[in-house]
Amino acid sequence: MTATPKDRLPQDEYLRPEEVEALHDLLQQRLESLLKNAHDSTLQIQLNPEEEKDAIDMAVSESSRATTLRLADRERTLLHHIRRALGRIHQGDYGTCSTCGGPITYHRLMARPVATECIDCRTEREQLRR
Ligand SMILES: [Zn+2]
Repeated sequence: MTATPKDRLPQDEYLRPEEVEALHDLLQQRLESLLKNAHDSTLQIQLNPEEEKDAIDMAVSESSRATTLRLADRERTLLHHIRRALGRIHQGDYGTCSTCGGPITYHRLMARPVATECIDCRTEREQLRR
C-alpha cells in the first residue's frame, strides 16, 4: 500500500466509465447507510430516487445542514465528503487530483472513495506536516 513520489502514473490511469460507476455505487451505498443511521436515530429520511437527486444537489449547494443536523460530527463530515464526491462524479471531475490535476487511481479510490488527492500529493502533504 506504500507508494513513493517516484511512482508517477501514466495518463491512462484515469478512471474508466465502468470504474466511475462502481465507485458511484460504493459512495451511494455509504451515503444511504449514513442517512439510514440518521433516520434510525432521529430523522425521517426515506431515500427515493428523487430525494437522492436532492441529496446530490445539496452537495453542490452545500446546504445539507437540515438533513445532517442530528448526525454525529464524524458522520456529518463523512457525509459531507461523500456528497462532495458524488457531486464531482456528476460534474465529471471525479478521480482527478485537486492539487496536481493528475489521476487518482481506481485502486486508491476503492479504498478511499472520498479521496480528492492522488497518492503523490497526499504523501507529499503528509511529509510536509512532519
Ligand atoms: Zn496530485
